[in-house]
Amino acid sequence: SDQLENGLSGPSLMLDRVHCQFHGDSVVKDINLHLEAGEVVCLLGPSGCGKTTLLRIAAGLQMPTRGKVFLGSSLVSAPGGVQVPPEKRNVGLAFQESALFPHLTVLENVCFGISSMPKKQQRTRALELLGRLGMADAANVYPHTLSGGQQQRVALARALAPSPRVMLLDEPFSSLDARLRDQIRDDTLHVLKELNTATLLVTHDPEEAMFMADRIALMRDGEIVQTGTPTDLYCNPAEPFVVNFFGQVNEHRGVVHNGVVTTPLGHLEAKGFEDGSSVRILIRPEAVKVRQLEGQAGDDRTSHVLMSRLLGPTSLLHICAHGPDGQEMHLHAKVPGVFLPEQGQAVSLELDMSQVFLFGE
Ligand code: ATP
Repeated sequence: SDQLENGLSGPSLMLDRVHCQFHGDSVVKDINLHLEAGEVVCLLGPSGCGKTTLLRIAAGLQMPTRGKVFLGSSLVSAPGGVQVPPEKRNVGLAFQESALFPHLTVLENVCFGISSMPKKQQRTRALELLGRLGMADAANVYPHTLSGGQQQRVALARALAPSPRVMLLDEPFSSLDARLRDQIRDDTLHVLKELNTATLLVTHDPEEAMFMADRIALMRDGEIVQTGTPTDLYCNPAEPFVVNFFGQVNEHRGVVHNGVVTTPLGHLEAKGFEDGSSVRILIRPEAVKVRQLEGQAGDDRTSHVLMSRLLGPTSLLHICAHGPDGQEMHLHAKVPGVFLPEQGQAVSLELDMSQVFLFGE
């Protein structure tokens, strides 16, 4: 019936012009956001931009200053008194510091939220979820005997056990080391998709958001800067902030003449910009294609390598680019594999324009 209700009543979660102030400071500013049934949405943004506050508002742990929150078709938060408490919202919560009950076994922890079910059913359900998260063998141990990552899995199983309409996850993987984190992310995403659970996940890690999310809402200073699929945000960023958030980029400035801007890397098309206007040119390091020319740079008029470093799956080159008109530009290039030309090596450069972005000043 839950799924039927979700299907008929639109979004699983809807935030309607939600605003939140602390001591007169707005930390969440009139935010609209919805979660469709089964959709994973990531709130992404730098520290302090209001992600956790927004999640706490959805959970019922924080009252918004104004705006409305709907879960399914139910209004759960509104100015003038409606404020359904967290335990009545049918949401599953898991935070960075998962607080398992130390005096209960893993199995008992997971059964905790479904104690209204018959005992046998509780057990079956809990073991099924623990199994999906790779923790079935630990059912009868106490939390303190588990690693942080294992505790995190149990906390997720516990939050999922009551089949919540919406899962709310706040940096649930951030206390884990990189290897373990990848594995748990993978398992968690699998389970969320299998159970078709609408999920709002807070993270400051762009890679995590891209991996987990159907849609990302990128925040800055209490506002959503851009919402879209990971591909939307990565390939059609709305502003420089969005480009920069997904990794270091080369940034240069130029002036538009006759629909193009001239750089040492060639003429870049600048459609839609007025003649004479100055533009910011953002070039992802992976947009720069590097080809070795014969020998050292004969004079300093040739583009050449200043430094090269192996990062692992990619190589990072620091390059001095020279244009035909004597213009010079320093930039980073990231190329796949082991590609480590020596300092002074002459190179020719080409840009993958799908990873180059122009913005007006
Ligand atoms: P982080 O990734 O560091 O957790 P965040 O994006 O989740 O950051 P929030 O935790 O939502 O950001 O905090 C947003 C702002 O609101 C911060 O400046 C924070 O200090 C402030 N804030 C949050 N909760 C309270 C509170 N209960 N009282 C006063 N200020 C608060």
